[in-house]
Formats: sequence, structure tokens, C-alpha cells
Amino acid sequence: MAIWNRNKGSALPGDWAEQASRSVRWFDALVDVERARIGELAGRLLSEKDWEAAQGFELTEEIRLTIALQAALLVLGLSFDHYRMAKTIIVHPTTMVASGERAGPVPGVVSDDPLPLLGQAAHAEGPVVIAWDEARRNARHPQRGYDVVFHEFAHKLDMLDQVVDGTPPLDDDGARQRWVEVCTAELEALRRGEGGDLLDDYAAQDPGEFFAVATEVFFDRPVDLRAAKPDLYDVLAAFYNQEPAAAADASG
Ligand SMILES: [Zn+2]
Repeated sequence: MAIWNRNKGSALPGDWAEQASRSVRWFDALVDVERARIGELAGRLLSEKDWEAAQGFELTEEIRLTIALQAALLVLGLSFDHYRMAKTIIVHPTTMVASGERAGPVPGVVSDDPLPLLGQAAHAEGPVVIAWDEARRNARHPQRGYDVVFHEFAHKLDMLDQVVDGTPPLDDDGARQRWVEVCTAELEALRRGEGGDLLDDYAAQDPGEFFAVATEVFFDRPVDLRAAKPDLYDVLAAFYNQEPAAAADASG
């Protein structure tokens, strides 16, 4: 995986909105001002970030645009600068296999079994890695509640304050305290097996994974999340400065 196809500096295609309507399910529910902002954010992701393809794979306009649109949704209520830790996006055609020693499934055990990976967000300013087939499927079928692009870019937001601890930068101490309270309670409920079935078990791994998995559900199944876990929905809505459940209500 040492040689990459570099694809730098592509522009937002002229028919991006038609393409968005086909490739990402949430796009049609947005109001005009939000669509324009999504286009602006996706355009900046395309032109200002480094896009690379895994060896032997070629990035098409559809691949770059779909991933850029999905990433843009997370920062719709924030700023483009929130992605300053995401400098490079590497796209693989399908699931990657990680090898090498790592912490095993049982604490204290080291494993070197091959591990299928849908994506990855390297620390600090390291790359975001995405499996394209998964990203495409997720963008078209949000009802499943899985989205590799939302997940990995959420990690990049978490990394803004240098630590991956499941707490992105928040406005004030009150918001931070509320965040930690709500997320810790939910994480502990998941670990007790009392977290319901909306959040994938993987969220119980650690606070960083909890935030990334909760982000997937917040954007993919906002109405379900608001109904099942209103406190978690509220802290996510406050951080992302978005109300996806209200948008879903409005669009029917
Ligand atoms: Zn993760």
C-alpha cells in the first residue's frame, strides 16, 4: 500500500446537486440555504484536501463527491476549519485488511489475526481512510444506521483538542460537563447490555468509538435516536449545531 494515485485539487462538478440527490439520501430533505452551504463545504473538501486512491484503484468524480458530501454534512452547522486535522483522504475500493500486532479482542491479549477494516482515522493530522463500497452503500441506505464517512470524520473532530476521548471541543464548561455526563451514562448502559439496539456494540469499546458510532446514528436515524435517547440526541444536536430529526419531521 505504499504507492498511491494522487488526485489533488478537483473542483465541485457543475451538476453536483443532481449527483448529490442520487447518491446521498439526506440531501433532498435540506432547505436551499443548507444545500448551498453543503456545496460550498464539499467544494472546499475536494479542492483543499489531498485525495489519494489505494494502489490499483482510481478515484472517480462520483467517489470523491459522495465522500465529500457525507463529510460536509457533519460540519454543516460548524465551520470548514473543524476539519483542520483531516488533511488527506485515502480511498480503497473495498474493505481493507489490517495486519500486524495490536490489542486483541480480549483485554491484555495481543492479536495479529487479519482484521477487516471499513475505515480508519489516523491520529493528529494523519489520513482518513475509507472503503468506497461501504461508503456508497451507507450514503444510500441510512436507515441501517451505519456510515463509515460520518464515523471516521467524527474521529477527526474528536482529535481537534489533541486527545481522542469522545469529547470534541465544546463551547463552555457547562456544555462539556453535560456532554461527559450523558455520554458516560450511555456508554455504561451499553457495557451493561442495557443500551438498546440503536447503537452498535462497537460503541462500548471506548469513549472515542462511542462518539463516532453515536454520530452515525445521529445523522442516519435522528428520529429514532431522539425517541430512544433524547439526552444523547440533545448533546449531539448542540455540538453539531443541527437538528436532523426536525429536518426529517419537516420533510415527512
Ligand atoms: Zn472508530
